Amino acid sequence: MSIRAIRGATTISQNTRDEIFNATIELVEQIIEKNSIKQEDTTDIIFTVTPDITAAFPAAAVRKMGITDIPLLDMAAPDIDNALKMCIRAMVHINSELTNAQLKHIYLRGAKVLRPDIAEKRKISVAIDGPAGAGKSSVAKRVAKDMGYVYIDTGAMYRAVAVWAIKNGIDINDTKTIVDSLDKIKIDISYGDNVQKMILNGEDVTERIRENDASMGASAVAVIPEVRKFLVDMQREMAKKGGVVMDGRDIGTTVLPDAELKIYLTASVDERARRRYKEYIEKGIECNYDELKEDVIKRDHNDMTRDVSPLRQADDAVLVDTTDIDFDKSVDLIKQLIKDTEDRS
Ligand code: C5P
Repeated sequence: MSIRAIRGATTISQNTRDEIFNATIELVEQIIEKNSIKQEDTTDIIFTVTPDITAAFPAAAVRKMGITDIPLLDMAAPDIDNALKMCIRAMVHINSELTNAQLKHIYLRGAKVLRPDIAEKRKISVAIDGPAGAGKSSVAKRVAKDMGYVYIDTGAMYRAVAVWAIKNGIDINDTKTIVDSLDKIKIDISYGDNVQKMILNGEDVTERIRENDASMGASAVAVIPEVRKFLVDMQREMAKKGGVVMDGRDIGTTVLPDAELKIYLTASVDERARRRYKEYIEKGIECNYDELKEDVIKRDHNDMTRDVSPLRQADDAVLVDTTDIDFDKSVDLIKQLIKDTEDRS
């Protein structure tokens, strides 16, 4: 074990006891949590405050957290010209097996500017909507992987409901039987290496849901309000903690209306049919371009004209048309939009 020092800093907006306590507690909690620190391994904590902070001692906030057996010290930071105002800095010494490179230094609130290189950004919720074949899922999957977000493919959930009906010999348009059966449909989503696996009543249907009857079936069951409610509740639950890139048709308008970033990803009908055709051919699935194009048009019509949550661009969504830009460019563009939104959050 060696003695290691973890740095942190935060800011307050008013020189009050409450602000000092809240900011200090948030900072210390994050230092402890992000570095998995045990109280008995902490040797001491030193705080400095800028000269404009006079309403309370940060160390008193730590005592309030119930940490009473660790030596604490408050000191005045030097009064440097143009330095960050209202800033509380911390240095936590611990006995640890961690190397310096493994330590996580924590910079919060206005203090992120002190170390933009290591300040952790708050992950946001990203809603991506658009018509079939616009490249939403492949783009969203890559963006999520590159940025450490969880990717949630909501279309896969509608597909799973359709596959359940097909497997059980239920007509995809038999709304009553499908609605009455919802409590028999158990959809589990598991993630390995950021790949979403769809488990339907214990069976892995990740591949099955991509077949054409599942695409058309999904679009048919998606008009049923009860099916939508059933799946939207699940989707909201999954997105509760943030840090998700969720794609579908109604994410920005209905599922996550408060998402910090909404994107409407689209491409021309011909281009989308071409992409589907290429994808099927590459997978060795027999298909006909004209039929695929007809399907794209039909699914657009179904999705855009249904009564419940029709596909439309949310008023505050950014339009990204990928007709003339390739996959890598689309990914880069969306990653940049996420980074910009994270910086503003
Ligand atoms: O995106 P994907 O093509 O896998 O979606 C399959 C179908 O599920 C869509 O055509 C659409 O009708 C429906 N869907 C929906 N709302 C979502 C996601 C998909 O209505 N959020």
